[in-house]
Amino acid sequence: MDNMNEFYILSEPEGNPDIPKYWSYSQLEEMRTCPKKWWLSRAKYPNIKGNYPRYFTLPMLHGIILHKTIEKFGRYAKKQDNYDFARSYFRIRSAIQAEIRELLEYESSVNPRFKKSYLKSLLCIDDCINNFKRIISEVEKNVLISNVDYQYNASPHPTAKLPIKGHEVTIYVEYPPIVGRIDFINDGRIIDFKSGAPNSAYESQLQFYALLFWLKTGHLPSSLEIVFSNHAHATYNNLLSIEKLTSLRDEVEEEIINIEESIQSGLPEANIRGDQCEYCPCRQNCDEYWTYLNKESKVIELNKDKLEPFWIDIEIIELPNSWQGFGSCTGIGQSQQLGEVYLNIEPDKCPNRLDNSCPVGARILGAKLRYETNRWYLKTALFTEVFWIY
Ligand code: SF4
Repeated sequence: MDNMNEFYILSEPEGNPDIPKYWSYSQLEEMRTCPKKWWLSRAKYPNIKGNYPRYFTLPMLHGIILHKTIEKFGRYAKKQDNYDFARSYFRIRSAIQAEIRELLEYESSVNPRFKKSYLKSLLCIDDCINNFKRIISEVEKNVLISNVDYQYNASPHPTAKLPIKGHEVTIYVEYPPIVGRIDFINDGRIIDFKSGAPNSAYESQLQFYALLFWLKTGHLPSSLEIVFSNHAHATYNNLLSIEKLTSLRDEVEEEIINIEESIQSGLPEANIRGDQCEYCPCRQNCDEYWTYLNKESKVIELNKDKLEPFWIDIEIIELPNSWQGFGSCTGIGQSQQLGEVYLNIEPDKCPNRLDNSCPVGARILGAKLRYETNRWYLKTALFTEVFWIY
């Protein structure tokens, strides 16, 4: 049985996040949806070394494996200098298996939230192979075999090497201070690979990449494309004009100035939105979220008559009297949302501190709840997370 990781002791941030030297599209997007989420997931905590542990979902794993396999294939094709030969002899299955092994091993060694056995059980190698094959069949053969560099960093230094091309190209720009890692660039063509189907949200990401390319090289990209693993190949060249990119540059510049000012003035406000907060990786640290949940007892009332258990985030304000603070936590506790609740928290999710200290409460993400014989019963499952309050 694994010991509980110290990450699950709920700790207040002890320092502001550093302001990034360059802003990526995803960081700006996070700031737009909830500045507090950006702040909490980059603040400094006494019990977290390195980056804030993130959640992994199956689509995320598929995306990472797809990108790594395309890059590996690109290298292989370039070495063979014969695309048809590379297509025939590239060992897709073993390349994907190696990527999966590496990803699972690495993440489970650094990320206490990474549920290796659970995610491994969901991953299907055939799905990964099909994603790869569909993308490759949509990209013309001369594109991937061209004379491109790999993992090319277009440094912010003014003498940066041009033209910019390759797989996984990182472009930095000084004014405004932005950065982006683009899946593939060749002859000014910006190509992004996505596992999944077209989605209008991708347009602004592509336009951000076009802005980076234009500001870095002084030229508009020749085309903006996304190749999807469902066989779609979309172009977004309507987004390419000096006027559109100039106005985007001005908006981004102003936005970054405002964001940086707001970060310096302390913890930003929470933007509570049920659908977004439900998946927020740092909601255990967001007091506004728990206040919102405690008021929202409607969901619980609606589920009271259901025979099947359901999943919910819940705050326990009193733990069973008989519990000593280690080993499985079973017995009657109190929750603001539910009142009295019978807890059954597995030992690997419970503290194992040697100093005899006992938590006073817990914030539980993804608890399994059912109502039976006039009482609530709460049980933890493989992916339930319990954050202890001391
Ligand atoms: S729980 Fe919601 S409001 Fe709180 S930080 Fe996360 S996204 Fe923002």
